[in-house]
Amino acid sequence: MSVLDHFTWDELLEAMEREARKRKAPVYEFKKHITTPFRALVAVLLSSRTKDETTASVTKRLFQRADSPEELLALTEEELAKLIYPVGFYRVKARKLRELAKALIEQHAGEVPRTFEELTRLPGIGRKSANIVLAHAFGKNAIAVDTHVHRISNRLGIVSTTKPEETERALHALVPEELKIRLNRTFVAFGQTVCRPIKPLCEACPLAQACPRIGVKA
Ligand code: SF4
Repeated sequence: MSVLDHFTWDELLEAMEREARKRKAPVYEFKKHITTPFRALVAVLLSSRTKDETTASVTKRLFQRADSPEELLALTEEELAKLIYPVGFYRVKARKLRELAKALIEQHAGEVPRTFEELTRLPGIGRKSANIVLAHAFGKNAIAVDTHVHRISNRLGIVSTTKPEETERALHALVPEELKIRLNRTFVAFGQTVCRPIKPLCEACPLAQACPRIGVKA
C-alpha cells in the first residue's frame, strides 16, 4: 500500500504544505534569508546537524557581515567561528566556509557554479547540498534527499529503500518533473511539524487515512 493509491503527487504536496504552514514549520522562516545562490550555498553548509531555527538566526547574522566570497574570506577562522556559533561543528564549518569562499574565488570567479558536478567538487558540499542549491537557487528539477525525505517517503510507502541515494533514484523515477523542485522543502516542513522522526502526529495527520505508516511504532 502506498499513499499514492489515494493521492496524486499534486494533492499530496498540497496537503503536506497546507498542514506544515499551519503549524509554522521552521524551514519556511529559514527560507526568507536565502535570496541568492551564494546565500543558499552557505546556508546548506551551515545547516547540517543544526536546527533550522538556529541556521536561520546564524545566517541572518553572518550575511550582515559577509555576503560574498570575498567578504567571507576577509574574516579569520576565529571570527567566523564566533559568528556562526552555535551551529553544529561550528569550528569545522568556519574552516570549511573559508575553503569554500577561496574555491569560489579561485575556480569560479566568485560565482556559485550551476552544475551538480561542479558543486559537489566544492569543499563541504555533498550530494544533498548540491541538489538543494540546484533546486532552490537555480530552479532546477533536482531532488535533495535528506533524513526527512528518506524517512517520510518510506513511511508513506512511496519507496522501499534503506539508503538516501536509493530514495533519490526512486523518487526521480516517480515524481512528475514539474513537482520535483517542491519536494524537498515540503517534506522537510512536514517532517519538522507532523511526520516527525520520533512520535509522529499520526492522529492529527491529513494523510492518516491513506498512509500505511511503514516502520512507525504504535
Ligand atoms: S500518518 Fe503518521 S506516519 Fe503517515 S505521514 Fe502522517 S504522521 Fe507520518
